[in-house]
Amino acid sequence: MGKLYLVPTPIGNLRDISPRAAEALAAVDFIAAEDTRVTVKLLNHLEIKKPMVIYHRHNCGTAGPAILDRLLGGEDCALVTDAGTPAISDPGEDLVALCAQNGVPVESIPGPCALTVALSASGLPTARFVFEGFLPTNKKNRRSRLEVLAGEERTLVLYEAPHKLRDTLADLADALGGDRPLSVCRELTKLHEEIWRGTLREAKDRWAAQEPRGEFVLVIAGAPQGEEAPPDEEAALAEVAALRAQGLSLKDASAQAAARFGIKKRRLYELALDKGRFD
Ligand code: SAM
Repeated sequence: MGKLYLVPTPIGNLRDISPRAAEALAAVDFIAAEDTRVTVKLLNHLEIKKPMVIYHRHNCGTAGPAILDRLLGGEDCALVTDAGTPAISDPGEDLVALCAQNGVPVESIPGPCALTVALSASGLPTARFVFEGFLPTNKKNRRSRLEVLAGEERTLVLYEAPHKLRDTLADLADALGGDRPLSVCRELTKLHEEIWRGTLREAKDRWAAQEPRGEFVLVIAGAPQGEEAPPDEEAALAEVAALRAQGLSLKDASAQAAARFGIKKRRLYELALDKGRFD
């Protein structure tokens, strides 16, 4: 029986490959890589030549069982992704589960992971945290996820792509409140590494003025302990508009939406009038 090695690779700085990770890459029978063009650069740097197979999100249904067969046949395999630790917001989770189900040993070699690099440098509480990976892109799923996260008291860690950063900061500020502290960790271990600290409102303003470039991890302070999440007034106003469109009076629409979102009836009614959205 072979063994599956989970081999973390640098998230920017090639010198972060550990001796043990390099040894595993050199020793295994084959490497399963997310993108062989990326991995071959690392192998060239390490002067290692090794047969590779592709294992990524879109082929794991067929590639996983094929790798399992080779492991059961006695070969050792190293799983790598483009950067960081396999199976953390990256392909690998399914392959590890498949190995676990079939009694194939798995050895995880410690190494670079954007989550831990960002969290440890964030300056925010690290004793208890939740890793959310990427927020859902589907509007409805995103909104319900954010509603849950608004009341989360542990430090939150999120990954985000540069072209989605502005929308994500705006959605987070709406759902969690603009005053919530966060650290925006950018280009970790790279030349332009930056750990920016401020509030969600300030972050939103900063990246509205400056185009987001590079890779980002957001580390956000949890909700203050014992306090409930602030009611989502924007969502309540949207509900008022939807109920108005169904023919309800402003008073009735405000009352219904206020009950659903935990806001005082009078406050939502006045907010709706204030915003000049209704007459
Ligand atoms: N498995 C990887 C790990 O262990 O960090 C994460 C892979 S996930 C597909 C890619 C995301 O990780 C990026 O969108 C970004 O949020 C984060 N990331 C990766 N490298 C980073 C870096 N050098 N600086 C900041 N964030 C990074």
